[in-house]
Amino acid sequence: MQKERTYDEVTLITVDATMSAAIHGGRAKCLQRLVRLDMPVPRTVALSFGAVRRIAAGELPDLDTILRPFGPDPLVSVRPSSQDPDWGGPGAILNIGMCDSRHADMCATMGEAAATSLYLRFIQSYATEVARLEADSFELPDHPDRAALARALAAFEDEMDEPFPQDPARQLADVLKSMARAWEGTSARLLREAKGAPADAGLGLVVQAMALGVGQGECGSGVIQFIDAATGQRRITGRYLSQSQGRDALTAESGALYLTKDPRGPSLEEAHPDTFAKLVAFGDRSRERLREEMEIEFTVEDGRLKILDAVRVPRSNRAAVRIAVDLAADGVIPPEEAVMRIEPQALSELLHRQIDPGAPRDVITRGIAASPGAASGRIVFTATDAQAAAARGESCVLVRRETSPEDIRGMHAAAAVLTIRGGVTSHAAVIGRGLGLPCVVGASTLRIDRKRGCLIAPDGRRFAEGETLTVDGTTGDVIAGEPPMVEAALDGAFRQLLDWADGFRDIGVRANADTPADAQTARNFAAEGIGLCRTEHMFFEGERLSLMREMIFADAPDDRTAVLARLLPMQRGDFIELFKIMAGHPVCIRLFDPPLHEFLPSDKAGLRDLADILNLPLADVTARVEAMEEYNPMLGMRGVRLGVTVPEIYEMQARAIFEATIAASRKGAPVVPEIMIPLVSAMREVELVKNRIDAVAVNVHNETGAEFDYRLGVMVETPRAALRAGDIALHAAFLSFGTNDLTQMTYGLSRDDAGRFMSAYVSQGVYEEDPFHTLDLEGVGELLTIGAQRARSSCPEIMLSICGEHGGSRSAIAFSRARGLNYVSCSPFRVPVARLSAAQIAL
Ligand code: PEP
Ligand code: MG
Repeated sequence: MQKERTYDEVTLITVDATMSAAIHGGRAKCLQRLVRLDMPVPRTVALSFGAVRRIAAGELPDLDTILRPFGPDPLVSVRPSSQDPDWGGPGAILNIGMCDSRHADMCATMGEAAATSLYLRFIQSYATEVARLEADSFELPDHPDRAALARALAAFEDEMDEPFPQDPARQLADVLKSMARAWEGTSARLLREAKGAPADAGLGLVVQAMALGVGQGECGSGVIQFIDAATGQRRITGRYLSQSQGRDALTAESGALYLTKDPRGPSLEEAHPDTFAKLVAFGDRSRERLREEMEIEFTVEDGRLKILDAVRVPRSNRAAVRIAVDLAADGVIPPEEAVMRIEPQALSELLHRQIDPGAPRDVITRGIAASPGAASGRIVFTATDAQAAAARGESCVLVRRETSPEDIRGMHAAAAVLTIRGGVTSHAAVIGRGLGLPCVVGASTLRIDRKRGCLIAPDGRRFAEGETLTVDGTTGDVIAGEPPMVEAALDGAFRQLLDWADGFRDIGVRANADTPADAQTARNFAAEGIGLCRTEHMFFEGERLSLMREMIFADAPDDRTAVLARLLPMQRGDFIELFKIMAGHPVCIRLFDPPLHEFLPSDKAGLRDLADILNLPLADVTARVEAMEEYNPMLGMRGVRLGVTVPEIYEMQARAIFEATIAASRKGAPVVPEIMIPLVSAMREVELVKNRIDAVAVNVHNETGAEFDYRLGVMVETPRAALRAGDIALHAAFLSFGTNDLTQMTYGLSRDDAGRFMSAYVSQGVYEEDPFHTLDLEGVGELLTIGAQRARSSCPEIMLSICGEHGGSRSAIAFSRARGLNYVSCSPFRVPVARLSAAQIAL
């Protein structure tokens, strides 16, 4: 409040006036810039946030001060001016000052029809927006004649028990009060808060001399844009309508002109070339001097052009990127500013996979395409189940009747969201777009059968929880099963923006990629390498799964070795493929991590199948499986513990890596693989595994005669590893912080079970955020800090990184950078977001 008082509450906008968007709002500030650019802006007075707050509280400013600049018979408009134009505000009110005497004068100067039409327009907006009367009684007539005017005035008097106000000052006072109060209303508040406005966001108002757009000579109004709001390409669009005001041209069903020559109809460019040329010149000037693509609202008054307003063109995220890059390419803004202008999260909307256009689709229904991209996953019906699925590393589609704020965490965890109800501005749609999550809403022909836990399609087909569904948020299709996908392609502007970002950032960005498809996506998004390849993901399917089971059941080391020999070529093939795609960029392969029993069947049918394959009695197989079960597998026989106790698996993997290195280096760029040991908690574990891997390297070298190099590193994902990073580092070329397990173990919180109570914990403020989603800088972060410091003090050159799910988030990147980590690694789709965030942090 104090600060506001240093500005005048009522300010005539001139070249020299002191204006601020934070005091008078963005519109007032922009109008002053247009005045400074020497554009023909009608006289305008700005009311500050403070003035409007006082008006809402019933304290009116001196109306004479506001109206004096407009002369003896003022005719003005009032428009809202919130700090950020996106926060909205009450609708504009035009023609304030129209009254009987003014009407009579204007009939003489501009003709009765035009004067009556203006008076009727004002009566209509005053009656409906200010006096809040039913709109039906004040519809604009087809023939705005004296009879219609008399009817409107009578209707007003009838409803209000007083004649239509004739004093311009009283009219203005009523308009100001009504707009100020509308801003304070609950629904307006909720609406703007949803767009990011703070609870105490202020509203300014601008009072502007009317440029009539109706009357003698060429009169009219219109809107012009210089870019395509969907693509960001430079292209003039807009509408102009003779004898019109406000945004009439945009809503008119007929009679409006296109701006440029257009095969669909006549244009302003042809009909009024001088006006058009001036508009284009103003557009160029505003782009260059306001350093933005503006939409200009204009009026023509007896052939003279007036610029009423200019707002930043509302735009898609794709267009925002293109506009920022074009402005920088044209030297209007520096590349740093282009990089800073794009919200990193906005990129994710442009990055999504789409269903292969050539693939058949088993479409079960179509809803509203609410957030682009397509994704497949298992059906879940609650946010909690979505979180549980994500914690298991499973892709899921969250299906809800409609979503509410309690579902947000589940939406974060889901690959896609499908709702039965809602439209493009529903909660699911808005949040889905914000997260870059494919989303279809309003699929109203689907039914959820809660009792049976299934989704019923219009043709009667049932899809049970756990079955796979695909959501195409680009078309609105809901598809049974999992059609093939094509990766997102980046356009030139996108690449340019990220190239600039790469020039500014000072921390590396790699991708977590397990499959060739992931690796290809990572390369498409210019990841600098693979920071984490989870090799166990390569064993969960088909023949490999059977072989794994045979290996687990092998009694003697020789039997195990025989099975591993059959797995070896498969792994070698996997790695050759990854090395080929990554073309010399580093690939960090993590040795096998999960508990062995995860590869064993859990139900009777599966056990019977396994008994068949192994040719063993069912009882033996069952007993063996039971014997392997652990009370707490996440803290049991996994990671390096397997490497120490069943070393043959890691030896096979090391051999596959080395043989693939030799093969790939022969054909392409030389490969120096990085091999990472998971779940370490003691230095001796590293020593043991290192000795064996070094021995495998020597063997492969002796057998093949080939020279190759490799780097052995350690995952720091237990608290002890972080605390003992100083001596672990002595045996490692690199350390990578696995913040998923580190979070699990620091909190003593199960990754697989926390979803069940996370909402309650967050809503009661126990945790500020889900720590599996947002890196806990205070606790887990402290372990990271200690680990990094201790590792660097014993090995200053050691490479440090982070590869948990947190790796792509802005806060984790900023934290990692501040601690001197060399790179972050995140899922391929987050790579561009991470590259841009990292640049913004560095700038
Ligand atoms: C981690 O624990 O942070 C990690 C990256 O490994 P995973 O998620 O595979 O356990
Ligand atoms: Mg881990």
